[in-house]
Amino acid sequence: MADVIPFDQRDGALWYDGKLVPWKDAKTHVLTHGLHYASCVFEGQRIYNGTVYKLKEHTARLFRSAGLLGMKIPYTEEEINRACYEAAKAQGITDGYLRPVAFRGSEMMAVSAQNTTIHVAIACWPWPSYFSPAEKLKGIRLEISQWRRPAPDTAPTSAKAAGLYMICTISKHAAEARGYADAMMWDYRGFVAEATGANVFFIKDGVLHTPTPDCFLNGITRQSVIAIAKAKGVTVIERHIKPEELSDFSECFLTGSAAEVTPVSEIGPYRFKPGALTETLMNAYADEVRGKVPATA
Ligand code: PMP
Repeated sequence: MADVIPFDQRDGALWYDGKLVPWKDAKTHVLTHGLHYASCVFEGQRIYNGTVYKLKEHTARLFRSAGLLGMKIPYTEEEINRACYEAAKAQGITDGYLRPVAFRGSEMMAVSAQNTTIHVAIACWPWPSYFSPAEKLKGIRLEISQWRRPAPDTAPTSAKAAGLYMICTISKHAAEARGYADAMMWDYRGFVAEATGANVFFIKDGVLHTPTPDCFLNGITRQSVIAIAKAKGVTVIERHIKPEELSDFSECFLTGSAAEVTPVSEIGPYRFKPGALTETLMNAYADEVRGKVPATA
């Protein structure tokens, strides 16, 4: 990825602790609690044609995630919503990605950090869908991760918290080293959970099956796709799915704000062929996020 400009060396401005600051000056000290102890939560949302898709839902999740880590964001949700648009406008971006992040600062540097300032930053950058719909329909290949999603009494699994991504990065790096696009993770009980940054759906006989989100993010895209499918009369079953059941499914796709709807052709030994229903949902989601059809949920 030699052509990617490092994220700390870009031009423009981003929103940091209440105001726009020059992008390259948006710094934090190396002795920051969020960096050492993962007291950090974040969001990831796309802006399409100048409108952030499901902005209120993303901001609400940022505040819920912060609350689960005992962090009080020193702004209102409305202020953060406005700040997201300021960050996009500052970069002149109408189609791209927004990254709000909230983290504990440097006043204390040990596990206990009751008196740290909660900092918030929001940056916007271009993030196109890399594949054309035809390319996307070939499907991506996933390896099975050696790591499992933790139990809800092991980590705050419904928070979009930085600490939960440690095993995602390790898993994705291992998968990429072997030529896969991503990794699929089972959960602590051995049920199918999610990919490293996206939820998963399967199709069998025209019915959608997706894991119950009881130990991982109930993704905003996941909820949109369920609503779109139901509005089209497709049955959606949320349940625990065992890995050995994967041989029964004909189609598979991932959902996420960055991934959108991404067809899958392979998970370890299991094979899928992206078909008509995956394509219908992929296109319906693309129309909804661009405001071509009213949101279903
Ligand atoms: N799971 C994980 C681990 C993720 O990082 C994401 C992306 N935020 C998702 C699921 C999908 O969530 P959403 O659809 O809200 O982007």
